[in-house]
Amino acid sequence: MDSLNILMENYQAFEETQIKDRFFKHADLLKILDKLKANSAFNLREAGRSTNGLSINLITWGKGPKRVFLWSQMHGDEATATMSIADLLNFLSEPGQFQQIHDLLIEKCTFYILPMVNPDGAEVFNRRNAMDIDINRDFHRQQSPEGRILSHLRDEIKPHFGFNLHDQSTLWSAGNIGNPATISLLAPAYDEELSINSTREQAMRVIVIMNSAIQKTIPGKVGRFDDEYEPRAFGDNFQAAGTSTILIEAGGFYNDPEKQYIRRIYFKAILSGLISIADESYLKAITKDYFSIPENKKLHFHLLLRNCKLERNGIPYKLDIGLCKEENVTKDARSIKYTYMVTELGDLSAYFGYEEINCEFFNLTQTKKIKIDEPADLIVHDGTNILLTIENGVLTSINIE
Ligand SMILES: [Zn+2]
Repeated sequence: MDSLNILMENYQAFEETQIKDRFFKHADLLKILDKLKANSAFNLREAGRSTNGLSINLITWGKGPKRVFLWSQMHGDEATATMSIADLLNFLSEPGQFQQIHDLLIEKCTFYILPMVNPDGAEVFNRRNAMDIDINRDFHRQQSPEGRILSHLRDEIKPHFGFNLHDQSTLWSAGNIGNPATISLLAPAYDEELSINSTREQAMRVIVIMNSAIQKTIPGKVGRFDDEYEPRAFGDNFQAAGTSTILIEAGGFYNDPEKQYIRRIYFKAILSGLISIADESYLKAITKDYFSIPENKKLHFHLLLRNCKLERNGIPYKLDIGLCKEENVTKDARSIKYTYMVTELGDLSAYFGYEEINCEFFNLTQTKKIKIDEPADLIVHDGTNILLTIENGVLTSINIE
């Protein structure tokens, strides 16, 4: 795994520069896939069409006996994994000084990669498909063409391993010590009892390897995703069908709204998992270590104002204010406008903020009265210097260490 760390130091050699934020579209992805056509190691085929008729493409690579199926962005606004896959494809195309990793993977594995399962959702940066169906709740009914494609491919490929690639809310924390869950991992359950058979156990073992690889880069910022059986989800059903399925969720990291740092960690998570499948190092992993990954807890705010001094009816009181950035997609679906919403008030001493201000020795002016679930409109200052201004939900100035 040391070579993987060196590889990460040379990441710019693989990073797909055509993608710079989360808002790339189907046409952008096609340009990236086009580059692979000149490389005979890749096989590309259209697996089917989305509700609005956009192609969903399967990339096959490798000549080994271990079949690994990776699919991304079945939720259209969860783009991180597709970015990491673009980088992975570049790595597989031209591994440079990391030929050994490339050779191991190509000899031992065959990868089936289905990026952007929900191109219609990506087009408008929306979770759901063009029928307003959440594809990941459509396993049984299969009303969405996207869900049918995914399901048929699993039946056809019969993969040993599956990588189910998503993004989660940036408000999740890894355990309760103040770190965001930058990456969360899960071996989804295949029944209500959350039983563990050998299929699920293999997934847990691979996750143990992935966790230890990314802990080196983001110590303490890996969480275990909520372990609850969802009978309508693909991961849970693929696990039941005998594909050892690994869920990866991209969460948040400091000052990385477009997830350009996280995409690298996500790439490392995927690649470490793939290497461990290829060299079978996962077989030595202990499932107990899977359960020691701290569970996700929702303890984060985007901005936390601690110890604010307020007054009501002449009575002074102390209040923590938790604010979350609401994301509103712009008309062209190429960017986001943020609105800071007041989401919790009171004693938030057990909670954390990506940004925090201790307002104990400052004044808080409420331009509009602070109300839960409404946009914030306030100024934090010391009489002369302004630390923070939020105007009708829009952050207009921040001046903290
Ligand atoms: Zn998702």
